[in-house]
Amino acid sequence: MFDSLMSSEFDLKKDIIRFGQRLAERQMVAGSDGNISARIDETQIVITPSGFAKGRLEIDDLVVVDMSGRVIKGKHQPSSEIAMHLFTYQQRPDIGACIHAHPPYATAFAVAGVKLESDILPEVVVFVGDIPLTAYAPPGTEAVPKALAPYIEKNSAFLLSNHGLLTIGRTLAEAYNRHETVEQYARIIHLARQLSPDIRHIPSADYERLVALQRQLAANKLEDD
Ligand code: 13P
Ligand code: ZN
Repeated sequence: MFDSLMSSEFDLKKDIIRFGQRLAERQMVAGSDGNISARIDETQIVITPSGFAKGRLEIDDLVVVDMSGRVIKGKHQPSSEIAMHLFTYQQRPDIGACIHAHPPYATAFAVAGVKLESDILPEVVVFVGDIPLTAYAPPGTEAVPKALAPYIEKNSAFLLSNHGLLTIGRTLAEAYNRHETVEQYARIIHLARQLSPDIRHIPSADYERLVALQRQLAANKLEDD
């Protein structure tokens, strides 16, 4: 389970910086959008500082907090979405990383209030699962975890109304890959709807097979990325 996946604090910090750079390169964040965290152990997480460009972080910028949000290490304020990250780790002992950004296609669905349907692309069914559209919550408030509460137990990606995207995973790589997959998915759905309003769904028998595969993968031990 989770124990075997624990990396050292330094390795997690290096990975947060690497995935922050990738979010910026792929234009999934602008300005100081987004935040990334990883679980160090049962009592601490490491998280990005508030208000910094996520593509240009350095090791010393990252902040270590305990499970109540108290800063243990670091010279900056932790992300303003600290409540969302801590809530996720508290509710999901299987989760080791959370990534929040504002990728434009996924965020456009969250702004239009259009849910991303779950039965269109096989890789989304298998690697991400259903993507709920959560109720609006002002960013950086306790309302964000409240809006996630109905879905947090079962899902790995969440469209935050009028805000952006949150993906979670056992590792930073898994949370990041889900971010890219959801953004690409939103883009493909947007393009497909321009070609035809009547887009095709995976036949239901195959959809059930893919859902079963997703459950099996979720139960499997993770390979290193
Ligand atoms: P932080 O820089 O405080 O993490 O905020 C960015 C953000 O996207 C808030 O939702
Ligand atoms: Zn945000």
